[in-house]
Amino acid sequence: MIIKGKELSEHLKLHFGFDSFKGNQEAIITSVLEQKDTFVLMPTGGGKSLCYQLPSLLMDGTAVVISPLIALMKNQVDAMRSFSTEEGVAHFMNSSLTKQAIENVKSDVLSGKTKLLYVAPESLTKEENVAFFKQVKISFYAIDEAHCISEWGHDFRPEYRRIRPIITSIGQKASIIALTATATPKVQHDIQKNLGMTEACVFKSSFNRPNLYYEVRPKTDNVEKDIIKYIKSQEGKSGIIYCLSRKKVEELAEMLRVNGINALAYHAGMDSTTRSGNQDSFLLEKVEVIVATIAFGMGIDKPDVRYVIHYDIPKSLEGYYQETGRAGRDGGEGQCIAFYSNKDLQKLEKFMQGKPLAEQEIGKQLLQETAGYAESSVCRRKVLLHYFGEEYKECNCGNCDNCLNPKKQVEGKELLCTVLETIIALKEKFKTEHVIDVVMGNETSDVKSYGHDEEIETFGEGKDESERTWQNVIQQAMISGYISKDIENYGVLKVTKAGKDFLNKPKSFIVAKESEEDEEVEEVQIKGGGSCAVDPELFAILKDLRKKLSKKLELPPFVIFQDPSLEAMATTYPITIEELQNIPGVGAGKAKKFGEEFVKVIRTHVQENEIVRPEDMRVRSVANKSKLKVSIVQAIDRKVELDVLAESKGLDFSELLDEIEAIVYSGTKININYFLVQIMDDDRIDDIFSYFKDEAESDDIETAINELGSDYTEEEIRLVRIKFLSEMGN
Ligand SMILES: [Zn+2]
Repeated sequence: MIIKGKELSEHLKLHFGFDSFKGNQEAIITSVLEQKDTFVLMPTGGGKSLCYQLPSLLMDGTAVVISPLIALMKNQVDAMRSFSTEEGVAHFMNSSLTKQAIENVKSDVLSGKTKLLYVAPESLTKEENVAFFKQVKISFYAIDEAHCISEWGHDFRPEYRRIRPIITSIGQKASIIALTATATPKVQHDIQKNLGMTEACVFKSSFNRPNLYYEVRPKTDNVEKDIIKYIKSQEGKSGIIYCLSRKKVEELAEMLRVNGINALAYHAGMDSTTRSGNQDSFLLEKVEVIVATIAFGMGIDKPDVRYVIHYDIPKSLEGYYQETGRAGRDGGEGQCIAFYSNKDLQKLEKFMQGKPLAEQEIGKQLLQETAGYAESSVCRRKVLLHYFGEEYKECNCGNCDNCLNPKKQVEGKELLCTVLETIIALKEKFKTEHVIDVVMGNETSDVKSYGHDEEIETFGEGKDESERTWQNVIQQAMISGYISKDIENYGVLKVTKAGKDFLNKPKSFIVAKESEEDEEVEEVQIKGGGSCAVDPELFAILKDLRKKLSKKLELPPFVIFQDPSLEAMATTYPITIEELQNIPGVGAGKAKKFGEEFVKVIRTHVQENEIVRPEDMRVRSVANKSKLKVSIVQAIDRKVELDVLAESKGLDFSELLDEIEAIVYSGTKININYFLVQIMDDDRIDDIFSYFKDEAESDDIETAINELGSDYTEEEIRLVRIKFLSEMGN
């Protein structure tokens, strides 16, 4: 007899304490109870696990839950036990258990106490376990995180491919429920095919998360500063920052801490105690921010994460959706901000070289989808949902950067016709980039070798529009169903029936247009980055002061502070000697020697103009004196001869000079006289020294060589310049 309706709700209340089911839960549970194969697509936070937990309690036998999340199995089992009076109601079986513990689990299962058994895929496939499962009465199999089956998913696990054959060899007539929080139509198809459940009842919830705000920002050299500024504007809120590499995770977390943000790192390379300690600190809100690789967050259920930042572009849109999905689980605010640069994309593509070709091709296509999302002017929500095979009908979602700051929209009827004609002329055999090359008349080697520059009528027809505009046209056409991408075939573009109808009878097609000028403006801003914020008035005052001081001290201005240091001062307004030391190129020595007057004029300027100092914007860099530099300074203190020092460090002499120059420029005082007097006459040293002191307008080495003539070697000039900068400047 199948439990339904009111009685099912009573069981829900009895076992889990909930008054009612969420979304599709009831229908899904009924399907499982009826022993039908069931496929569940439900975004994170929708209540997936209940869909197998409740039926397992109501059915005869033990439900086998296959999950890749070994780290979370214990939590899940504990949670189940807390709902029950019977300890043995749930168990897990994975490589972390001792032999004895496994024996205990098996005996509980065979005694019939256990309703739910969590198994890692690699434990399921072990031969001795297969023999064991044959003796168990299995109520059904639940396959969690089922997207791991597909290499098109964001988290492919080869061992997932063996699940079906093992289930078959266990040989019981039990149904399967497969669950995933994220699946494109392609992944869904892969999962069903691989598990032999193409006939399954499919329950798909909407993947739209209306409370999430999506934004993509350009990733510039100032990305750290941008992130710090953002976090400071979100005080008291919890956030996650995702980076792709462990190294970056560590660096960024450190950088945030140095800037007064309570942040910890999390990645798979840390020892497990530290890692879970950091995770707990985040969950318990001892820290606001966790900087993590994607290893963080699977199954973590913190409801009030208010922002998710992607420092690096994710490798797939699916991963992106999954990671951003950790924001705003409680339905409250959730800001998802991704920093994107095309350079990152190229780096990721490079990493793929060396992998098998098919894998590379898949990886590249997934990356292209992400790039398409990042570069798009179309509503981000629309693009994301389209990727998951879902149509988002609203014109303006009101909660993404593109909808809030729309680009200029123009009638794109003719642009679309050009694209459709080109795709057809190319016999539907080419990818987006090639189609755009042809339309824009780019004579790439591919275009030429196919003769498309001569044969295709539309070649060069679109040269007056920017590449971005063409990308928008193609993306918008895909979303509108005029073009489809053949995923099985390396993503070549095809024209759909609707597209052919459009060609016969074109109608209005609105598209975001981007002019070349827009792109240029963006470029400039990006390059300008740091100096954009320079206070021109203060900068002029500081330059003036430097000039006066240089006269008074009879020192060239560049010895006092270099231009970039002045620019930084005119951006961040340091008003104490301590703050001044955070300015690039200003070490403790320089700050003490020249700083007093500078902070004085800055202070006056700040007061007179009532400037609110962007204190929170001041990015302190992590004290990054590399080991090498430290050991060079120590060796020079011990008066080690520089040629010997270079050899012992495995450096050319000139490389050693590079290092020493960097040390001096950062404001550290060093004394190399002991070495100079050994290799040069006093007169020669004086000549070069007085050139820098009295004649030079800059410390440029080329100019110095020209001015001093061929009597002096470059090495000599550089050595004396080091002496000069260190004595006069630091
Ligand atoms: Zn939108």
